[in-house]
Amino acid sequence: MSAPKNPRQSTDASRPQVRPKAEGWEQPVDAEGRPKLQFAQSKQAKQPPQHLADLTMEERVAKAQEMGLPGFRAKQLSVHYFRHYTADPEQMTDLPAETREQLVSEFLPPLLTEVRRLTTDDGATIKFLWRLFDGAMVESVLMRYKNRITLCVSSQCGCGMNCPFCATGQNGLTRNMSAAEIVDQIVQANRAIAAGELDAPTAAEVAEEADHAGLGEETAFADETASEADGYSEISAVKQGQAGASSDGSTSATGPQRVSNIVFMGMGEPLANYKRVMNAVHRMVGPAPEGLGMSARGITISTVGLVPAIRKLADENLPITFALSLHAPDDELRDDMIPVNSRWKADEAIDAARYYYETTGRRVSIEYALIKDMNDHLWRAELLAEKLNARGRGWVHVNPIPLNPTPGSIWTSSEPEVMQAFVNRLEELGVPTTLRDTRGKEIDGACGQLAAAED
Ligand code: SAH
Repeated sequence: MSAPKNPRQSTDASRPQVRPKAEGWEQPVDAEGRPKLQFAQSKQAKQPPQHLADLTMEERVAKAQEMGLPGFRAKQLSVHYFRHYTADPEQMTDLPAETREQLVSEFLPPLLTEVRRLTTDDGATIKFLWRLFDGAMVESVLMRYKNRITLCVSSQCGCGMNCPFCATGQNGLTRNMSAAEIVDQIVQANRAIAAGELDAPTAAEVAEEADHAGLGEETAFADETASEADGYSEISAVKQGQAGASSDGSTSATGPQRVSNIVFMGMGEPLANYKRVMNAVHRMVGPAPEGLGMSARGITISTVGLVPAIRKLADENLPITFALSLHAPDDELRDDMIPVNSRWKADEAIDAARYYYETTGRRVSIEYALIKDMNDHLWRAELLAEKLNARGRGWVHVNPIPLNPTPGSIWTSSEPEVMQAFVNRLEELGVPTTLRDTRGKEIDGACGQLAAAED
């Protein structure tokens, strides 16, 4: 295939154009020979047993009453789970001994069993591998930064979006995760933090974060989200009196004591599991003990670009942070990098992101994994800026991410000076841009490396 025909190509026409292709695995195709997309789980897929975190408080109370128990038992159990992160009947001494086991088995069936844990960044990053009730495996990655703790959660077992550069999609979609399976990743992470198992980042890591942030204009910290970048999350947590980033004393020198930020950037396409993901989000933001009392601004939903679902999310009226995995501004390349581009083109996805901003007032993020000689050409930075600026100013922030590399593959991270030039060009054209830090590379815990194989 020839290089994309774009007038801007002239600015760096000498650079080669590497084309996307699956390496080391066969990308499944549909009847027309296009990369296969799975928007729904198979009819045979089973969901785990119902759990307290699948239900609103009202529904929990009704369920306790159906069991012939007073409704307030549901509330007591909720306190154990959402405030003390426990599902152990032994610790529930406020519940009558004779109904404790029954309550726990009805409301708190075990959902995630820890199989393995890998630690890196001197203990400030932990990757958890979980086994679910049916043997499916998923991962979450917990990262402590100076002033926040971020958990990268999975929303599906596998993924049906079939992006050739992402490890998660290589085995297709097994099934959707339930709301409670999504939430339990946070509760278990909070339990580990409370037990002192997540260390503080070293001075060097903090300095490196600050360094990355220096590339962007307004960013205090260098990883994922505009909400973190604009500093809203902590303010809103205080205002709402929620136990978000600061109300538990978390911005003190010791840092937060529980997960303050969620990124839906683990395994799965969250908007392909819309109902359960939204139910999980309601548990995250619901005040304790209905939920975890987190700030919606600290929650980032990232999508390949399921346009109708993006618009629906915008209309939810929740100040969640939204991120679009664009990775290429031109359809010629994006068609091959992101198979769902066959349904919704780059411009439609950007329009939907703009709609998200208009509807919620929340600045959106564009994710852009920088891949050597594939999508890192300056003309693409220019085309991206042009497309974003055509839709207004101040509504969007670009987060380039160095691709998590497999050396020698066509999927290799751009050279540092190429990344810098890409970032600079966007900045010069008035687009706020922050090169994102990729925690957890050494343990395959970084974006696109989550494949959940048990060795
Ligand atoms: N399905 C969602 C969320 C999961 S992936 C989405 O696509 O947005 C989270 C981010 O990691 C996405 O932007 C994804 O494109 C990116 N990613 C996938 N593989 C990667 C890799 N090898 N290196 C860097 N980022 C990668």
